[in-house]
Amino acid sequence: MSGVYRTAQICKNGHVITSNTNYTAHLSNFCPECKAETISACPECNTPIRGQYDVPGVFGVSTYTPPKYCHHCGHPFPWTESTLNSISELLDMQDQLTEDEKQHFMSYLPIIFDETPQAEVTALKLRLLFNKLPSEIGSLAKNVITDVISESIKKILFP
Ligand SMILES: [Zn+2]
Ligand SMILES: [Zn+2]
Repeated sequence: MSGVYRTAQICKNGHVITSNTNYTAHLSNFCPECKAETISACPECNTPIRGQYDVPGVFGVSTYTPPKYCHHCGHPFPWTESTLNSISELLDMQDQLTEDEKQHFMSYLPIIFDETPQAEVTALKLRLLFNKLPSEIGSLAKNVITDVISESIKKILFP
């Protein structure tokens, strides 16, 4: 049986306000946690942000995590964009990685964020680049990334 995606409302820093905007009582223009503005559609293409997935007759108790990219246009959501920007700034602060390696580093991120089938192999490749970073930059980058990756990727990337 096929289900339906509800629409989520999420603050620009990635805090979930609600995974189903049908519950209007939960809606809020600003995040109660960090006061950032909230959105319920992709800022690029205006497609509603995928919230919880409801299957009729099935009461799933699944935890909802905000999507990192718009499923419609593929653009990173603001919370993903700020993660990517922070990493990119950190990479610019060091010269252990070549420009090519920096580009690889950045291109690996969407793959491990999205847990595509290549995620684990990519995490391994990313670890090799991580190991080249100066320790201070590396540990800051680790802090930024840890928040947004799954446990299984974490184990590969930061064993
Ligand atoms: Zn927030
Ligand atoms: Zn979009």
